[in-house]
Amino acid sequence: MASLMGQMMQMPLMISSLIVHAARHSADTEIVSKRVEGDIHRTDWKHTELRARKLAQALARLGCTAGDRVATLAWNGYRHLEIYYAVSGSELVCHTINPRLFPEQIAWIANDAADKVLCFDLTFLPLVEKLAPSLPSIKHYVLMTDWAHMPQQSTIANLRCYEDLVDNENGEYAWPEFDENTASSICYTSGTTGNPKGAVYSHRSTLLHAYAAALPDSLDCSAKDVILPVVPMFHVNAWSLPYAVPLVGAKLVMPGPHLDGKSLYELFEGEKVTFSAGVPTVWLGLINYVQQNKLRFTSLKRTVIGGSACPPAMMRTLEDEFGVEVIHAWGMTEMSPLGTLAKLKTKHAELDAAAKHSILEKQGRVVYGVDMLILDDNDKPLPWDGKAAGNLVVRGPWIIENYYKGETSPLVTVNGQQWFPTGDVATIDPDGYMQITDRSKDVIKSGGEWISSIELENIAMAHPAVHEAAVIACRHPMCDERPLLVVVKKPSADVTAQELLAFFEGRIAKWQIPDDVAFVSELPHTATGKIQKLKLREQFKEHRLPTA
Ligand code: ADP
Repeated sequence: MASLMGQMMQMPLMISSLIVHAARHSADTEIVSKRVEGDIHRTDWKHTELRARKLAQALARLGCTAGDRVATLAWNGYRHLEIYYAVSGSELVCHTINPRLFPEQIAWIANDAADKVLCFDLTFLPLVEKLAPSLPSIKHYVLMTDWAHMPQQSTIANLRCYEDLVDNENGEYAWPEFDENTASSICYTSGTTGNPKGAVYSHRSTLLHAYAAALPDSLDCSAKDVILPVVPMFHVNAWSLPYAVPLVGAKLVMPGPHLDGKSLYELFEGEKVTFSAGVPTVWLGLINYVQQNKLRFTSLKRTVIGGSACPPAMMRTLEDEFGVEVIHAWGMTEMSPLGTLAKLKTKHAELDAAAKHSILEKQGRVVYGVDMLILDDNDKPLPWDGKAAGNLVVRGPWIIENYYKGETSPLVTVNGQQWFPTGDVATIDPDGYMQITDRSKDVIKSGGEWISSIELENIAMAHPAVHEAAVIACRHPMCDERPLLVVVKKPSADVTAQELLAFFEGRIAKWQIPDDVAFVSELPHTATGKIQKLKLREQFKEHRLPTA
């Protein structure tokens, strides 16, 4: 018998529909941006949608046609948001480049993506002037500013003014409808090993992901919120907030390049921000500023922290001292990025505080749309008992099947299904809470047993004298590898290696306690704010452990 087909409208899931929805239903809801120039700019969803239409017209006038890549080197701000929608909405592909990468990497990525237009903030004019000769595919350079701020002269021939482009159009533009599987944006992984790889998102994947992001057990976005993504729009599309915020019609606040503790705090308070998102390192700066100046958060209710493990000590400070709920999240560029978030279930309501904390410190449960497994080294699924640790694999409609230009599929086959290997090692408990023990390349293999560097870092971070900590594997003649703790002390704090190591006693099995402590003034970070373990291992290659 033939199947009965559904009788619903066939409407492709288009990114432009998000901004059209926000313009219609949240027309006067504000978008506030701290600009590169230092001042505060205010607009709303209605005007943003209109300006996005004008920009789409301008890009067409520059000769952009379906599939062309438009790159950005830009902070979080209203112009960047307009570019997101103008580009994807007009069937072009938005390629957000991380300006914190080395210039050679930026050029490599722009050439790999064959970007045709580059839009950039004033901050990056010197960088772009230097790079331009090595960017043959770029036909148009657009400086994201007005006439008054355009440079008198520049080595970039034909440098265009963003406001001029927008002002010259009338906005009589209808957002086109096309195949929802069309590419909408590209993000490159930071390439800690080898060259960066591009993840190409589609309109469909972005919309499904935005729906999932807004859910209560996910980022929990609503029209009542004032949302400030500290996470940059060049870091996996600011974890979907530029899409999820118009979806719910919330007020959006953008910090521009002003990411220091003082600037962020003033923006949080001034705009009555209720919800934020960022990597642990930005919270370190903000917390320090707020503590040193004995300030409080008066509107901030919750924040998502992810991108690397959120130290439990940071959660405790934010929640106990400042009353800010921390939602620990895990994901990756290849996953758009949301995978799991730590939120409690009804059955946990009666647990005591410590038991709740230990659940919420994990990376959390999957959002509907993501499925996960942990595998042993022969790709056999491991039990969800909270103890067995294995290679974490995922599948779902916003997880990549292939990399941009990828010749070989990264997927592994398990029980006839295709899964994406995350490169992370994790446990999953019977309630489905996943906990990352390490990136597979960061685990410490000590005498045939694995030691989780994240677990040791979390303990070190709870010591009052520790500002930041990293644990790396150090060669050991008997055990193969042993943990070395590398620490940045808090300013004016005094602590010895002995005292730090003693702090681990009773908090972890004796054999897992690091063998040694090295004090440094600074840890190396990646362009997305993660500790660069590879570089750190290189730095301590010759380090001789006292136990060796
Ligand atoms: P890159 O490493 O190239 O910058 P991503 O930003 O996509 O790429 O990083 C994804 C990786 O970051 C994950 O595979 C995981 O190792 C790590 N990560 C992200 N969130 C967390 C978290 N909450 N806890 C531990 N590790 C995390």
